[in-house]
Amino acid sequence: MRKIPYQFVETLEVFPRILALIFTIILGTFLCSSSMAGITDIDAFLEMCPTDDPIFEQLTIDFALMKNGVWIDPTELTCTSPVSKLPIEEWTDELIFYQTIRTMYYMDFGQTEHLPWTSLSLYDWMRKLVNGARIEDGVIGGSCCSRIDGRTVFLFGSSDEFGRDFDRSWRGILHNLSFYAHERRHSDPDDPGHTRTVCCDGPACDQEYNEANLGGYGVSFWLLKQWATRQIDLGGCGDIVGRLSTLASDGNGVFRTRFCTNIPVPTVFDMNGPECGAGTFEDRRGLTGMWYDPALDGEGFNFIVDGSRWVVIYYGYSASGERLWLISGVYYDEIQAGKTVVLNMYEYLGGTFDSPKPGTDAVLPWGSVTIQFDNCSAGKIQMFGVDGEKMSEIVPLITAGVTCENIELTE
Ligand SMILES: [Zn+2]
Repeated sequence: MRKIPYQFVETLEVFPRILALIFTIILGTFLCSSSMAGITDIDAFLEMCPTDDPIFEQLTIDFALMKNGVWIDPTELTCTSPVSKLPIEEWTDELIFYQTIRTMYYMDFGQTEHLPWTSLSLYDWMRKLVNGARIEDGVIGGSCCSRIDGRTVFLFGSSDEFGRDFDRSWRGILHNLSFYAHERRHSDPDDPGHTRTVCCDGPACDQEYNEANLGGYGVSFWLLKQWATRQIDLGGCGDIVGRLSTLASDGNGVFRTRFCTNIPVPTVFDMNGPECGAGTFEDRRGLTGMWYDPALDGEGFNFIVDGSRWVVIYYGYSASGERLWLISGVYYDEIQAGKTVVLNMYEYLGGTFDSPKPGTDAVLPWGSVTIQFDNCSAGKIQMFGVDGEKMSEIVPLITAGVTCENIELTE
């Protein structure tokens, strides 16, 4: 059972007084950047087996695949679309490799000069110096490259059922794609290479994050950032939870620790896109209440929604382990399912039990919170501020008892 700190319940009662003191309102809806990507709905795109794509034969000519020392005959690969319905034992490492390469092929279709480390599209850059891969059971991570039978191939390990299930959708494919690009980068003459000092949290790191000369981790981070902010926009919204969770852990978690100097700032996600549409809540007051992420038990959010306004309160802990209570600015626009809003968050400091400090004197900017309700019983929150950043997938714990009709996202 989730425990509710007492002072948080108190907060609810004094809330209107605090509300009156808050005047800064930040509202933002992220707009999808327009790009000319050859993929307009990544979720639908990945439902097609790579073998069903007319480009499949070209992919196998450009990239041969070896598994445990044996070249794969691509004509013997079988797959039945849709990928999400395929038994997991039939969704093999070989198919996942070609699905990743296929995504690479279409991703930058018709574009050049948009990647900082090459003037080519990602696919053309990939095949320029690398024309195959080998998968070996038991290999952790990967390496690039070796010459086998006249081909330059990079190496990586096979996946278990859990990993292959992950790779049905974009949240897994994007990870493969950024990993392939990392390995491929090592075969470029101007690759700055890794440093193997104790300056970062890993066995190997890039000396710096320099977009004028990105290393392997730099290329991975740069790609993750473009996808997260939709500068490279692949469309689709069904898998947004999965892909943003992956980006939160890989893009902002692991990869930012792989640079010794000039560490990139955390990516602020674009959790919305016009193609996702937006549903209207029949009665948005039904969102009022306490919400939390079951994977982050011990903290939570309180939403107060009336006819025309709403605010959010965060209660949890600071980076140094002290209790942290934040309150947002007031949002005045209509809440819609699937619509992203960004609010500034403020911390209140300095008062005592007997002598609370007026909000105008106590307020301290903390950072921002990005909120999206998928429906009346699920939402996503990204916090980004002085104590760090994190992504939460929230569900209601206690709501106000107002029926909130679930309105499906419209395509
Ligand atoms: Zn590397």
